Amino acid sequence: NLSDKLDKAFHILKGHGKITDVNVADTLKEVRRALLDADVNFKIAKDFTTRVKEKALGENVLTTLQPGQLMIKIVKDELTELMGGDVAGVNLSGTPSVILMSGLQGSGKTTFSGKLANYLKTKKGKKPLLVACDIYRPAAINQLIVVGGQIGVEVYSEPENKNPVEIAQNAIKHAKANGFNVVIVDTAGRLAVDEQMMKEIADVHKAIQPQETLFVVDAMTGQDAVNTAKAFNDRLNFDGVILTKLDGDTRGGAAISIKSVVNKPIKFIGTGEKMEAIDVFYPSRMADRILGMGDVVSLVERAQEQYDEEEARKLQKKIAKNEFGFDDFLSQIQQIKKMGNMKDLVGMIPGAGKALKDVEIEDDAFKHIEAIIQSMTKEERSKPSVIDMKRKTRIAKGSGVKIEQVNQLMKQFEQMSKMMKMMQGGGGKKMMQMMQG
Ligand code: GDP
Ligand code: MG
Repeated sequence: NLSDKLDKAFHILKGHGKITDVNVADTLKEVRRALLDADVNFKIAKDFTTRVKEKALGENVLTTLQPGQLMIKIVKDELTELMGGDVAGVNLSGTPSVILMSGLQGSGKTTFSGKLANYLKTKKGKKPLLVACDIYRPAAINQLIVVGGQIGVEVYSEPENKNPVEIAQNAIKHAKANGFNVVIVDTAGRLAVDEQMMKEIADVHKAIQPQETLFVVDAMTGQDAVNTAKAFNDRLNFDGVILTKLDGDTRGGAAISIKSVVNKPIKFIGTGEKMEAIDVFYPSRMADRILGMGDVVSLVERAQEQYDEEEARKLQKKIAKNEFGFDDFLSQIQQIKKMGNMKDLVGMIPGAGKALKDVEIEDDAFKHIEAIIQSMTKEERSKPSVIDMKRKTRIAKGSGVKIEQVNQLMKQFEQMSKMMKMMQGGGGKKMMQMMQG
């Protein structure tokens, strides 16, 4: 697969302390072959390697100490950029916000409609309504009703009505009258692009003017996915792409090609048949997936960049002299925060990304800790032993937390001070492992 191929490509570079023009060219050839094997369109792959080469030359890869690592970074950055760079959300500005699903039969529209409804309900506090506009198969309406039942979301359907435009319009009226703030319209698809299907979805699109038109595509269909995306985009000028069936080891090549061809962001991915198997699409994570390596490289780089060497030396002295206090603790936290989003950091640890995929890690996990420390006096920060019950109560009040949380922080701080004495000389990296563990 693509990851193996790229591994091989990078292996060529990693093996050489110093690299030459010749093996940069070899590596790029391997990268290109790997992309082609993952169903990335030929022209896109070619342009991609050209850009990587230019960047590599621009950054003087050949003269750096670790050319392999720099090269990996350039490839990854470029891949991320190719897939859209930033995360794209869905437009929920309407009252109600109308979301129209489009795509071929079997692409996963009905399943994704349910997943999105569930996501908006549980994560965004919305009240969604699902609408069954697949009028060709009675089973299709039932399928959506079953999905709605699983997630506790109402499904609007008119089994006798064969006009999807009317059904969609009636559903929106129903939503307005009953306080639904999101309307998700599931539509029919054919096995291949045909005029009748296109006209039908275009008519619905025109009649209801959705805030968000999403194109759902099966990631396993590779190069075909690109052609289908183009056909739908020409007709609907959709707002975003949903890439389904990215569970298991489905290749991610479609993500690259689709973005390049239709220039629309990929917004969500489907990673299984269950209602919870939905993820926001993160271009950089997809790049990691395609590259097939926990991004240890950039984790190391970032940690090095952000961790102030001077601070580290001062800290070591303090630890040695038993002067480590809450101010230092706070600055440690701030160092860690500078390194980036907690979720990203955890995702970069090989193996952890997968294991922790479903665990919610709050970016502001440190918020309380900071508030507590900021409510301490100077004396308390530098000499935590003076903090008695009375002071704890005051600190808790000042920082808006429970007294147990102050206690917990005191305990953590004690443990940390002990551990730090044990690992004298530990730099930022060790500290970080400790904070996370
Ligand atoms: P529709 O015809 O576009 O409405 O497609 P469906 O939602 O009915 O999905 C077609 C099949 O794909 C069903 O068997 C789904 O369970 C399955 N499916 C949908 N999304 C995913 C996904 O993300 N992963 C996997 N493994 N299966 C999926
Ligand atoms: Mg369906």
